[in-house]
Amino acid sequence: MEQLGTHLIDGAWVDGGPTAVSDNPARPDEPVGEYTVGDAGTADAAISAAAAALPGWAATPFTTRAKLMERAATLIDERLEELATLCTLEEGKTLGESRGEVALSAETFRYQAAMAKTSTERIYPSPNAGETIRTVRGPLGVVGVITPWNFPILIPAWKLAPALAAGNPVVWKPASHSPLLAVALARVLDDAGFPPGVVNLVLGPGSMGQAIVDDDRVDGVTFTGSVPVGVGIRDSVTARNGRVQLELGGHNPAVVLDDADLDLAVPNLVFGAMGATGQKCTATRRIIATPGVHDELVERLGEAVMALTVGDGMDDGVGIGPLVSTGAHREVAEALDTAIGEGAVVAAAHESTPDGPCFFAPTLLTGGMDLSIAREEVFGPVSLVTPAGSVDEAFAMANDTEFGLSASVFTNDLWNVDRAIHELRAGLLKVNAPTTGSEIHAPFGGEKASSGHAAREQGDTAVDFFTRTRTAYIRPGRAR
Ligand code: NDP
Repeated sequence: MEQLGTHLIDGAWVDGGPTAVSDNPARPDEPVGEYTVGDAGTADAAISAAAAALPGWAATPFTTRAKLMERAATLIDERLEELATLCTLEEGKTLGESRGEVALSAETFRYQAAMAKTSTERIYPSPNAGETIRTVRGPLGVVGVITPWNFPILIPAWKLAPALAAGNPVVWKPASHSPLLAVALARVLDDAGFPPGVVNLVLGPGSMGQAIVDDDRVDGVTFTGSVPVGVGIRDSVTARNGRVQLELGGHNPAVVLDDADLDLAVPNLVFGAMGATGQKCTATRRIIATPGVHDELVERLGEAVMALTVGDGMDDGVGIGPLVSTGAHREVAEALDTAIGEGAVVAAAHESTPDGPCFFAPTLLTGGMDLSIAREEVFGPVSLVTPAGSVDEAFAMANDTEFGLSASVFTNDLWNVDRAIHELRAGLLKVNAPTTGSEIHAPFGGEKASSGHAAREQGDTAVDFFTRTRTAYIRPGRAR
């Protein structure tokens, strides 16, 4: 098979920079493959290509853009096993989780292709006789796409699909933990037939992302990742009057009230806290329980945590894969030690976790809001059950965080459901469902420190970030 390079720039697959190895966190001695690490110069070439492609892509009929995206969706479906396997090998999540993620990525391209065929124009009333006021939209321009490793194909799809649908060329820098899956998705887009320069992929470190962020030719940057990096990107992009979209961290509470159906709550809470090895921005970090349910909930959650199967995500029957890296393992282990040192009680810690530097025992803690783990995001399979004296206190504790991405409430009381919808400060509010998970046709995003102030991702709001609105006032001329 022809050996292609690993950066896609101006329609050509090129190598550039030193060779690096992509690791398998479940089997660190079995590397997944190699790629080349670019630098600011690589980013510069990709931005030049995107800028040159902008006029042509912006003028391409929406039907053509939609057709290319539908083709991309079909190719993702056809390559589902290959993409899902790569996702599990590089990121560590289970093959089942990867298959679901890849399938949703195809759906995202299909959905945004359909959205490209809907009108975003509006007509407004005018006080002047005969005048029409009409808004039209054009592409934002060259878009920088910077993505994390935890949903290494779906989060890129959330961003790339609406950007491309709206006529923007993209320069995509994926996370360094998942480079080969990024190459595989960019190959899909290349094979689908996007014109040269419309889709550019550059692999490299954070400094390469910074080069994209700082470049005046990049009209907008859409970013998902950690708070400090996101804040730095926001400051850089807004300082040069660019547009920025941020999806950052979370510290997502699930409130379990006395009347909750525990048969429903327990599996949903464990799934929300431990699924994808707790490496979801929407993962359930705190479980807040009122007095009538607290003790039974802790006991049943503990049993459910002990019943999880931890192992290599490629193996049948495994429910929880490894953490993404030894660095991630160190951070989660340190946070757990700190929590225990501060007085957290271990209610359950999985006992049969395999050997290997990235495997981490799913752990359930109990303790109060005075623990640092009650406020700081720990990106792993650790969750804290905290008692609340009343519904009022439970809701106040749920809001006692700098973050506001997702929240759940488990109750059948309609009044408390309504209160939760209006009072819990989170961009996603789930009732009798896990804090994790969202539908691609519905808006996604957070409040407070979890998101920036740009339009919501996904759904019919996704187009807002990627377009500029122009307002036209049209009056009839006089016939000559
Ligand atoms: P990081 O912020 O470290 O990295 C995210 C991306 O930014 C990576 O591609 C990274 O490159 C790149 N990057 C790093 N430094 C810079 C820089 N100075 N300028 C531009 N780009 C840079 O986050 P993680 O990858 O560790 O992802 C985990 C975090 O993401 C968690 O905190 C989680 O909460 C959050 N997250 C939020 C989601 C949401 O929707 N709100 C969804 C998923 C995750 P490199 O990998 O090469 O360092």
